[in-house]
Amino acid sequence: MRRLLITVLVLLALGAGWLLYRLNDHPSLDAYASLGLASRDDAAPGPHVSVTFLGVSTLLISDGETSLMTDGFFTRPAKARVFLGRIAPDPDRIAQSLERAGVQEIAAVIAVHSHYDHAMDSPEVARRTGALLVGSESTANIGRGVGFPEERIRVVTPGEPMRLGGFTLTAVLSMHFPHGMAMGEIREPLVPPASAMDYLDGGSFALLVAHEAGSLLVQGSAGWREGALSGRHADVVLLGIGGLGGRDEAYREDYWREVVEPVDPRCVIPIHWDDFTLPLDAPLEPAPELLDDVPASMAFLTRKTAGGAPTLGLLPVWKPVRLLGAGAAPCGAPR
Ligand SMILES: [Zn+2]
Repeated sequence: MRRLLITVLVLLALGAGWLLYRLNDHPSLDAYASLGLASRDDAAPGPHVSVTFLGVSTLLISDGETSLMTDGFFTRPAKARVFLGRIAPDPDRIAQSLERAGVQEIAAVIAVHSHYDHAMDSPEVARRTGALLVGSESTANIGRGVGFPEERIRVVTPGEPMRLGGFTLTAVLSMHFPHGMAMGEIREPLVPPASAMDYLDGGSFALLVAHEAGSLLVQGSAGWREGALSGRHADVVLLGIGGLGGRDEAYREDYWREVVEPVDPRCVIPIHWDDFTLPLDAPLEPAPELLDDVPASMAFLTRKTAGGAPTLGLLPVWKPVRLLGAGAAPCGAPR
């Protein structure tokens, strides 16, 4: 009996060790270093839009006068906490991240859906920057759960444009990547700390950002609603690839056909490729091989962009890059 118990314990320890090892085994994107984007001229006069990549699908979008942020996820709790414990926004990490990104005022924080890696910190970011909190009713309930002022919450009506400074935002109803976890709606104010699984999807959006300097599409999750983007255009697509590497080629082709092709972009930039259980102040690592196959997604995107229309680029972390208009990186320049 005792020997059996010891054997079971040893096996459990080995299993846990293997899991821990595999969850920290990250592939490398070094082969794609040449895709790194930089502004052609950060001081060029004229209308422009810059984008700062801050991990997952958190993007700071600015035209020099008005700033917007998608998601605003900075807490990035560690794996043990996400899988086994309860999570909550970390005010220090949020404050440090906003400072490092040079953020002061933001007009709106827009959550592309309500999973924790998108919307958990959105109200706190909006609170600190004077922003509106924009998203689904579920996102609104994440705001209500932390006492975010009701008058600064805007529940989006899909397809209805919203003007903010020189930007026009349109949320197009999309679909989450079909992993089947934490789907449904948050129907009551969600008070943290909570389980990661309490942050339910609440409806996923593709966000169109139009400006006189050009247009962006932010696709936070690798899913789609058939035909939803037909008749739309975007110069640059910020394409969520989370989970995409674990699907077959047919799924990837469908995703490309439904999200990239309809908007006919000049440039495609993958986002949501990083392991978001690691802090943002360390260099980003691609998602562990056990959970995703980021190199497979990158190989797919490389193949789809081999003809140069659209081109493929990667954004650095923390550094604003002009993607549209005056001084823009070549990726977004008219062909
Ligand atoms: Zn999600």
